[in-house]
Amino acid sequence: MPRVVALAGGVGGAKLALGLQLVVAPGDLSVVVNTGDDQEFHGLLVCPDLDTVLYTLAGLADRERGWGLAGETWAAAAQFARLGEPTWFQLGDRDLALHVHRSRRVRAGERLTTVALDVAARLGVASRILPMADEPVRTRVRTPDGWLNFQDWFVRLRHEPAVLEVALDGAEEARLTTEIEGAVVDADAIVICPSNPLVSIGPILAVPGIRGAIGESRRGGTRVAAVSPIVGGRALRGPADRMLASLGEEVSALGVARRYVGLVDVFVMDQADAALAPDVERLGMRAIVTRSVMTDDASRAALARVVLDACLS
Ligand code: GDP
Ligand code: CA
Repeated sequence: MPRVVALAGGVGGAKLALGLQLVVAPGDLSVVVNTGDDQEFHGLLVCPDLDTVLYTLAGLADRERGWGLAGETWAAAAQFARLGEPTWFQLGDRDLALHVHRSRRVRAGERLTTVALDVAARLGVASRILPMADEPVRTRVRTPDGWLNFQDWFVRLRHEPAVLEVALDGAEEARLTTEIEGAVVDADAIVICPSNPLVSIGPILAVPGIRGAIGESRRGGTRVAAVSPIVGGRALRGPADRMLASLGEEVSALGVARRYVGLVDVFVMDQADAALAPDVERLGMRAIVTRSVMTDDASRAALARVVLDACLS
């Protein structure tokens, strides 16, 4: 059975990560997750992408909403509002327990990786969920009104202001964890999920050493596949399409593929974008055209199989 490493942001990443978890043997999937979105709320460390992946792989996610826990209640949020606390970043009652637990342990000096692995095991997840680094990396975006913390732009301002520049504070000081290095070097396939290439995959690839580890794995014969989050010239959800445009990049699967030149062997794109396949191949990647919109577990698993077959055949 193949050992698989996936690189993921939140919603798009978690969907394919679940597909991969459904098709590999229990324990053979490691998911490296973006932590550039992390921010403090109510004095607590909140890691939105890590938690989206965690709740999705644990089968606890609210799939309609796309984030948080299914069956969540909001009593604490109502009380925070009465206390005059800002509540634009919604934290459900049960979700809050995780933020309290993780904040306490990280402040006591434990590595974020240790806490993430432990929490995933406690919630019954066989896959390894690995934060991209233990050190804080914080994504900020420059808009026409100035620099904003990621969640202020993404959630509070509903990602409406145009993004003119992306900064990844702390990325240069972050270090590749031994857990990620080991997983990448041992991987039989490496999958870049259909996550935002600029603010989900970008921060992961900015951690010093990750590109080198992936390169070493490739030299040993492991293939890297990336799946396009842009389908038919649009993001299925979120700001990836508008970000590519405002940063001067092409808003298409080809535009995404260009960002991964020299890193990936296989580029998986939707049927809607079949006409772009020859251009993608000219970038030096094998193009795979398939149905890439994941609507249920069957389509998540089907896409995961296509991706793994392309890496392993
Ligand atoms: P976030 O951190 O929650 O914003 O999520 P990600 O960065 O992981 O994923 C966002 C991207 O997922 C968006 O650009 C979407 O276009 C993409 N996405 C969501 N669902 C699907 C899907 O079913 N198929 C594909 N190909 N992309 C998807
Ligand atoms: Ca995110």
